[in-house]
Amino acid sequence: MSNEKWRKNVAQLKPYIPGKAIEEVRRELGLEEIIRLASNENPSGPSPKAVEAMQKAIFDSQLYPESTSRELREKLGSMHNIHPDQFLIGNGADNVITLIGTAYINPGDEVIYCTPTFPAYRTITLLMGGTPIEVPLQYDYTYDLDKILEVITEKTKLIFICNPNNPTGTILKEGKLKSFLGKLPLHVIVVLDEAYVEFIEEKDYDDGPNFVKDGFPVIFVRTFSKLYGLAGTRVGYCAASPELMEPIRAVREPFAVNRIAHAGALAALDDEKYKHKIIEENRVEKGKLTKKLQSFGLDVTESHTNFLFVDMRGDVLEMANSLMQEGILIRPCTAWGLPSHARITIGTEEQNKRFISALKKIRKKQTTT
Ligand SMILES: *Cc1c(COP(=O)(O)O)cnc(C)c1O
Repeated sequence: MSNEKWRKNVAQLKPYIPGKAIEEVRRELGLEEIIRLASNENPSGPSPKAVEAMQKAIFDSQLYPESTSRELREKLGSMHNIHPDQFLIGNGADNVITLIGTAYINPGDEVIYCTPTFPAYRTITLLMGGTPIEVPLQYDYTYDLDKILEVITEKTKLIFICNPNNPTGTILKEGKLKSFLGKLPLHVIVVLDEAYVEFIEEKDYDDGPNFVKDGFPVIFVRTFSKLYGLAGTRVGYCAASPELMEPIRAVREPFAVNRIAHAGALAALDDEKYKHKIIEENRVEKGKLTKKLQSFGLDVTESHTNFLFVDMRGDVLEMANSLMQEGILIRPCTAWGLPSHARITIGTEEQNKRFISALKKIRKKQTTT
């Protein structure tokens, strides 16, 4: 069909291709059990307390939710020591990123980020008629801050920084981000996407809340989809100075966060014990899985997240396909232009074992045929 009636900017967009849904693979292959290590979900699910709170909330489904998710903003405010009015809750971090772009990007504005990275930055930039300025990651797969400084012009509006970066799992450390922020011209705003921040173990890591409190022009973005296991319920948020938040609030939908999501997020934050258990399990399994993959001679980038970025040393699409036949879904990085890299979510102990034995099986097949 012709797209001549479409808004011009929409015609440039490519639809986001998510990891295959478990339901879809089950239907296609007739497999009973599918293990999805493709979308960085929490393999243990949300806290049982969050589930209980969500079950209760269902009974009030006839009532619109409180528009600004006040209770959650208050809890996040005391957690980060930032005023609750400086938070905006959205229908997932994706929604929040869209709102930020909608609030700030004028046609012709330049938006800088490194690649490969999370695709939402490019999408919203194009949608708003902005110009994406893409800078390659450094050799160690971290954001190239020096290069970003070099490409800033008067037209630069936003700089997206994904830290830790998806799909590489890498972070900027040793005060690099702070010194970068100190060098920025006044007309530039930084959007710091910290979807995986809770998995970082580095002690000297500077995070978004600290930058906001120190008065830097930073909007930090977080999600309940990864650590808190609420990807299917959709809650994300951002915070920044009152001045930076104002236009974002102006473009938000009044009821983007539903009651059930709100209740789940509140209860998830309260369950500190569960959170620490998930972080610890991820840490242990990440170590084991890294060693195992390295013992196969594969190149595993040091990860500060709940997934691994692995050079599979071969045609990754073919490998992902063979793994799918075994009921294991991983994310080939071909959409990022990487023919041999995969992004593999760290599963439960049992899931990782199943993944490794499936991988052994297909590698054996490859060498014998
Ligand atoms: C998963 C992810 C998001 C989106 O999270 P949702 O809250 O599920 O929309 C945003 N940024 C990065 C880097 C992610 O990996």
